[in-house]
Amino acid sequence: MQNFRPEEVIVEHSSKASPIYKNLRRALPDVPFRFVDDYASANASANLPSNSFGSAKKKLFLAKHKGEFLKKCPGSEGQVCCNYFVINFASNCPMDCSYCYLQEYLADNASLKVFSNVDDLIDEADATLRKHRGVFFRIGTGEITDSLALEPYTGMVREILPYFAEQPNVLLELKTKSDCVDDLLDLDPKGRVVVGWSMNPQRVIDADEHATASLTERLNAARRVQDAGYRLGFHFDPLIEYPGWETDYHAMLEQTFATIDWRKLSWVSLGVLRDTPGLKRTMRQRFPRSQLLTGEQVLCPDGKLRYYQPLRVEMYRKMIGWIRRAAPLVKIYLCMESHEVWQQVFGYAPSCEKELGNQFSSLTI
Ligand code: SF4
Repeated sequence: MQNFRPEEVIVEHSSKASPIYKNLRRALPDVPFRFVDDYASANASANLPSNSFGSAKKKLFLAKHKGEFLKKCPGSEGQVCCNYFVINFASNCPMDCSYCYLQEYLADNASLKVFSNVDDLIDEADATLRKHRGVFFRIGTGEITDSLALEPYTGMVREILPYFAEQPNVLLELKTKSDCVDDLLDLDPKGRVVVGWSMNPQRVIDADEHATASLTERLNAARRVQDAGYRLGFHFDPLIEYPGWETDYHAMLEQTFATIDWRKLSWVSLGVLRDTPGLKRTMRQRFPRSQLLTGEQVLCPDGKLRYYQPLRVEMYRKMIGWIRRAAPLVKIYLCMESHEVWQQVFGYAPSCEKELGNQFSSLTI
């Protein structure tokens, strides 16, 4: 995987006492650091060009997060929700997938930033987790960033993982398309940390997942964390339909289950390509040659474009058949899909988000 190297690190003065600042200094000795009073005004004067999303990924900000860290995953209206919580310790991502929804979601606030107030993050999570000890929390850190791509520089996961590994009512998921796992290997996840990879065949990675780890690199990293005691998750998402997709996806699954022990897999999720008319406009500007712009999609009630329903059902059924052959008992769920699609694929749909969420609580030790 290509090493990320920011052109500049811009640090709020108030973040200089943070352990993340010290980690960045140590990991990026040759990169210029600049200090500012306030991230927002420094960002406003950064003079990024109008098509700034790609440029924004080249400078790294370190700033205090002023809002809440722990939130319920917003899900998607009318779709079955898996009762997931998110912690946002960074915003935006150094990699650059053509279909990335952050291009639309962060269009007005695209700067790549890491939050320095780790103590506040842990204090807030601790207050919530203690108050609701009877509730099981599946918490992800990869909603508006990649959980591990910046880890070699920020050391963020090393700062927070020991706390979450001690909590009886949590499963923490680190979701990534990187292979940046070196710094996890000497930590003890105590059965409470899942490292989840978003997976696609190498052909899709080459075409649309720019600057990410290759399929083989992702699998080798998965193997290493599995051997170090972590649980694994795989997200075959977004599934992309193209002539010959079956051959590529089947081969990817065979390679996956030949590399890792499926009994260490906490879950597998499946989801087809989803975008919006607005995201498609951005993709046309930034990635005009992407094949993803040519497939037929329909507008769903939640405002997202997806392949038409019979094709989605067919893709899910084929994927599940191939997965079940290699990993007969692994937990499989659909991400952001309707009750009708769940019914057609599995013969049932969870009655409510709590039901699906509860199925994951049985995974804790
Ligand atoms: S790895 Fe994830 S967050 Fe990063 S660009 Fe790709 S889709 Fe977006």
